[in-house]
Amino acid sequence: MLDGSDPILQVSDLKTVFATRDGDVHAVNGVTFSIQAGELLGVVGESGSGKSVTMMALMGLLPSPPAKIAGGSILYQGREVRGRSAKEMRRLRGGEIGFVFQDPMTSLNPVFTVGYQIVEPIRKHLGLSKRAARARAADLLDLVGIPDARRRLDDFPHQFSGGMRQRVMIAIALSCDPKVLIADEPTTALDVTIQAQILEIVRDLREKLGMGIIWITHDLGLVAGIADRVMVMYAGHVVEHGTVERIFRAPQHPYTRALLGTIPNLTGPRAERLASIEGQPPILMEEPRSCPFAPRCSHVFNRCRVENPSRRFVADGHDVACWWDFRTDEAYRGG
Ligand code: ADP
Ligand code: MG
Repeated sequence: MLDGSDPILQVSDLKTVFATRDGDVHAVNGVTFSIQAGELLGVVGESGSGKSVTMMALMGLLPSPPAKIAGGSILYQGREVRGRSAKEMRRLRGGEIGFVFQDPMTSLNPVFTVGYQIVEPIRKHLGLSKRAARARAADLLDLVGIPDARRRLDDFPHQFSGGMRQRVMIAIALSCDPKVLIADEPTTALDVTIQAQILEIVRDLREKLGMGIIWITHDLGLVAGIADRVMVMYAGHVVEHGTVERIFRAPQHPYTRALLGTIPNLTGPRAERLASIEGQPPILMEEPRSCPFAPRCSHVFNRCRVENPSRRFVADGHDVACWWDFRTDEAYRGG
């Protein structure tokens, strides 16, 4: 935590499983993090590391069955979210926690104007008149940098470019004044220049609106410029977490270091990036007793194969789940 104020959202030891024909898949295995007002948390990790499932779980969007929250707690403004009714969860999502997904299920409806798609949630959640809701919708489009916002309300989604559509999605997510915005790889499909513009807008909004923002990406380079803190996930675990300075200057987990190694030059062209880390994240049929990264790790030793490390303190605002200690360059001696 960056300061002493209470977090808006506090997730502790969250666990989720999916029932499948082959048995339970343990997708999230004890995830703990929090977010404060005005703060941007970057969540990174390869595809399959449990980023989306974690966020879906806390928004009550996991389909159950097959998914089940198997443990942990989710406090929003100090109150437990688990166990709330579907109606309460809808209210939370509509009015308190905004989200932008790459998922087509939550993207724009081609048959309605963009204005309609922003005005409707505003009217529903804030109870504004049509006229007031429309004025607010235009302000929001303006806020996310859509030129000629008032007129563009009457346009349909296909009349916007991909980047502009993603801005509209952000405007919709912001329409009810959320205290937390969760963005799950929303720019992955966009080209690098447009991505940079959207990140710029979001960073700006965080300051203007004072929300907490959770930005999910498989691209560690992308969070370098925008995040305050970074949480690195692997196999449904948080393997490292720290301020952006710490993560980029003194990464402590071999996985984080490997991810950083795939960014030869943070400002360089993507084409120059190294392929990836050898191997793949595991699909876990039970909660791991060894370190789930051990099979791919450059620093693996005996303890890693018999004991799954929990997160340990490294420095102020920095923790890691690893049995290797890069500060001394030998095995960590603590428990
Ligand atoms: P990320 O967002 O980091 O790419 P996800 O959170 O989507 O990863 O998925 C994490 C893991 O959860 C996947 O590797 C997969 O094993 C499991 N998972 C996700 N959805 C399902 C499902 N519907 N059925 C079974 N397993 C699933
Ligand atoms: Mg995902």
